[in-house]
Amino acid sequence: MLARLALAFAVALPSLLAAPALAAPDGGSYGLDDISRAVAPRGKLVCPDVPLTTYRGDVVRYQTPARVYTGFVERLRRFEAVVAEVGTRIYGRAPRKIRHLGTYNCRRIGRYPDLVSEHGVGNGIDIAGFEFGPLARDAALPDGLPKALRRGFSVSVLKDWDPDPAAQAHKARFLRALTDALVARDDIFRVLLGPAYPGHKNHFHFDCAPYRLVVL
Ligand SMILES: [Zn+2]
Repeated sequence: MLARLALAFAVALPSLLAAPALAAPDGGSYGLDDISRAVAPRGKLVCPDVPLTTYRGDVVRYQTPARVYTGFVERLRRFEAVVAEVGTRIYGRAPRKIRHLGTYNCRRIGRYPDLVSEHGVGNGIDIAGFEFGPLARDAALPDGLPKALRRGFSVSVLKDWDPDPAAQAHKARFLRALTDALVARDDIFRVLLGPAYPGHKNHFHFDCAPYRLVVL
């Protein structure tokens, strides 16, 4: 399975072969590691039967509820804790909401129709951005930030990963600090894709597939 997936991504991304983007996952085993992702390339898709739950976020809330594999909830909770920590470091508070574009969705991987997407087992999330509320009256804004950031604002992967105008560079700093912190952890996500990966200009795709792939 791992070799088949590695081959699929290697064919898709020859330019990445220079970098060791694929490796066996670490951080221990995971509940879906032994579930086959192989499916018939055509016809009605039947996704593996996994327990799903609707999760709204414990540390930071999601703007819309997330339908996910039950074992993915703990990963999301750790993700939210990192979001809160990085938000507090860069902006003096955690965001009020995390905006996502989708979680469970029974579908094949676009370019690899004989493999089910991690979304097809409720094991992935597409993160589009973050909504920050106003800073508490008695809280201090970190040094160097425009005073206007005491009010609420949003950070978007689409608009802020490569910031324009440069005055919003703090938003890119937040997004990079977040992805750096997530990549450094081996107990949250194994696959982290962002704007550098085809089809991901407007979101980060994070999942816990049985292989490691980081392209941000
Ligand atoms: Zn995705």
